Amino acid sequence: MAHEADSQQPAGPFCQACGSANQPEARYCAQCGASLSGGQTPAAPVRTVAYVPNYLVHAILVTVLCCLPFGIVAIVFAAQVNGKLAAGDYNGAVESSRKARTWCWVSFGVGLAFAFAYAAYMLVVMGALAVISAA
Ligand SMILES: [Zn+2]
Repeated sequence: MAHEADSQQPAGPFCQACGSANQPEARYCAQCGASLSGGQTPAAPVRTVAYVPNYLVHAILVTVLCCLPFGIVAIVFAAQVNGKLAAGDYNGAVESSRKARTWCWVSFGVGLAFAFAYAAYMLVVMGALAVISAA
């Protein structure tokens, strides 16, 4: 009675790097870690549909909350982004996206400046009123 069948010799693919046998379902060599698929790793499907943010929500928000004229400019550029993407004009879409973002920040900055100016103005007025009523 030979016990050759008990020997746990894997019957899988032989490693091309080190020559040791591996388990049949092994994808990488248990000895050296080399790929057993012969370099035929399934490549992930490459889709070159890049995402271009259109900043439309930002543009609407700054229009409502901060500064109407600059916000409208931002909305105009933001609205161009998806249209240009749909037309395959990727560079144009990126350009519009960048302009929309810029005008969002301009609108936000101007709105913030006006808010500060208004707050300062109100402080001066209230201060003056307080002085007058105290006199
Ligand atoms: Zn190996």
